[in-house]
Amino acid sequence: MKIDDVNQTSTVLVKSYNSMEPSEYSSLLSKAAVDHDLCIEVLDKYGRSIYSKDVIGDCMLHGRENSMYAYLQRILSSDNGEIYYKIKNPHSGYDMLLYGSVIGDFDNPDGYLLMNSELVPVGSTVSIIKKQLKVITFMLMIIAFMISLYVSSVIAKPITAITKDAKTLANGDFKTKFEGKGYLEVKQLADTLNYAEMELSKVDTMQRDLIANTSHDLRTPLTMLKAYAEMIRDLSGDNPKKRAEHLEIIINETDRLALLVNDILDLSKLESGKQNISCTKFDIRSKMNEIINRYKGISEQMGYHIHFTPDADRIVYCDIVKIEQVICNLINNAINYTGADKQVYVRQINKSDGVIIEIEDTGDGIEADKIKLIFDKYYRSENHKREVVGTGLGLSIVKAILKLHGFDYGVRSVLGKGSVFWFKINDNLVTNETDAK
Ligand code: ADP
Repeated sequence: MKIDDVNQTSTVLVKSYNSMEPSEYSSLLSKAAVDHDLCIEVLDKYGRSIYSKDVIGDCMLHGRENSMYAYLQRILSSDNGEIYYKIKNPHSGYDMLLYGSVIGDFDNPDGYLLMNSELVPVGSTVSIIKKQLKVITFMLMIIAFMISLYVSSVIAKPITAITKDAKTLANGDFKTKFEGKGYLEVKQLADTLNYAEMELSKVDTMQRDLIANTSHDLRTPLTMLKAYAEMIRDLSGDNPKKRAEHLEIIINETDRLALLVNDILDLSKLESGKQNISCTKFDIRSKMNEIINRYKGISEQMGYHIHFTPDADRIVYCDIVKIEQVICNLINNAINYTGADKQVYVRQINKSDGVIIEIEDTGDGIEADKIKLIFDKYYRSENHKREVVGTGLGLSIVKAILKLHGFDYGVRSVLGKGSVFWFKINDNLVTNETDAK
């Protein structure tokens, strides 16, 4: 480091020798000498001292050991006009670094620069620094420990809190509130967990509703079955007319029960992914006619009118049984939910790439925020009445079948005016061989 110091200072001084005013140069030299603990001597080309600065006192240039001219001789006899020496000062006993160089051209010098730097023994300094280092290390360790305590509390505390909340959520408490205090990631995690909780609680209440609804729907026909069976046993057993009436009720209730159980089975089969579709080619127009005719008898008896607007004959390729189920479920819903005028409109609309089937009713319509929910298997509107035959699973079955086919579907609804349920039988049904089986 000393050699580097000396080198840098000498470069500056040699360079500035010719370009600076003598007074300016003198102060530059004094400053360099004081800053770097150097004794500096500048001689002119005749070897006369023109600038001199003595900082060390007992140096090899100015002190008792002054041998400036001997060094000058050595510079002149050196190869490149530069000399370095490490000499022991016989008085102080310290090592001295002596540097000398030519100013300007070696063959025709402008002057000479001589510098003396003291190489102070470093042993004591090192031991002082070692002690300081121990103290500093100790302090730094304490500071680092405190910082890490702080940082870990900032990072870990909110996560610990969230973990605790997550445990209460896992125990089924859907009122847990996740607080995302601290930093962005924790906030995002808390938001995600709050969202998951919201969805879970929705599913939970829907599931509970479904069980409540289904068990209600199961219990009612069962109660009826029991009541009428008892009635036949105790009262009408001998009266053929009454008995037939009561038996009719028993049969109807059994049908209703079968319908519900079938729906539950259908949906669970469809959703388990075990059911494949078996596609065939058929004419959709005549199939629709057939379905509507089947409804005519029942619906007209109860005052409903189903208007069918067919389009041209069109051969489609899909699972005929399942698509029929979709159409029937939608017509059933339309009948159940249509307005007081009891009108239902069914349309076949041929398109270049498929056939759209629309089923329209004139009922109350469905609120925009409910439309997303009605295809959920647990969803049933609050105003669901028992007179309305249905299991709350109809639309979920529709959705599952249409998804299995990859068909688009949807609802357009105007509150107070009615709803249009539609789906589109695509021409290019995306299915593979195993599905087709
Ligand atoms: P369900 O009719 O047995 O309740 P669905 O799955 O068929 O079960 O229908 C789910 C819900 O969607 C119904 O409870 C009802 O609120 C709503 N919905 C279905 N079809 C219609 C319709 N045509 N008009 C109004 N609301 C309907």
